[in-house]
Amino acid sequence: MIGFPVGIFVANGMEWYFHKVWLHEFPSKNRNSPFFTHIAHHKRARLNDFHDEGYAESMFKNSEMYNEKSALIGLAAASTIFLPVAPFFTAGLYYGIWNYWKVHAKSHLDPEYAKKRIPWHYDHHMTSNQNANWCVTKPWFDYIMGTRVMTNVSITETNPLAINMPKWLEKRVNLVARRLLPKAYAQIDANTQFDQQNLRQGIEVAL
Ligand SMILES: [Zn+2]
Ligand SMILES: [Zn+2]
Ligand SMILES: [Zn+2]
Repeated sequence: MIGFPVGIFVANGMEWYFHKVWLHEFPSKNRNSPFFTHIAHHKRARLNDFHDEGYAESMFKNSEMYNEKSALIGLAAASTIFLPVAPFFTAGLYYGIWNYWKVHAKSHLDPEYAKKRIPWHYDHHMTSNQNANWCVTKPWFDYIMGTRVMTNVSITETNPLAINMPKWLEKRVNLVARRLLPKAYAQIDANTQFDQQNLRQGIEVAL
């Protein structure tokens, strides 16, 4: 049973890794790669206040949707190798992959939802530095890796788990997180300040 949350946690790490390395770093060097469509997704989101109407279209009519969906289906298929030994873990991975698609698509059709419910992804698209905030469903690995950058354009989560909890518990979670990840938090605080400064000066970091 513990395998299920572990699977969700690993899927969050996959979001961070694939988004950063394969959707940003790789296509920015290889413009002919099919993942270059993600850079186009960024352009469109920025020009349309986070809206991307492509997410309302069928994957068979829109090549970007086709690429993103078939990559996710491929990942889910590859995850199946764990099924015989760790069924709950595999279920956690499947859930994580499905939830990624659901949340990401919904957010780009409803920017107000994104601002409130996944502010880290709103920040990923709309702030001066789009090379940060790699997670989509939950910001966990951005806290672990120190790549969360908070901005004033969205409503920042009040704890790194991004789960609603009573104030007294939240205070403790925040304290423990800062104690466990001092380096990551130092980076997050510094980059957040730097980003706010850039935003005020209208500086946009190239993708
Ligand atoms: Zn991106
Ligand atoms: Zn995307
Ligand atoms: Zn997006």
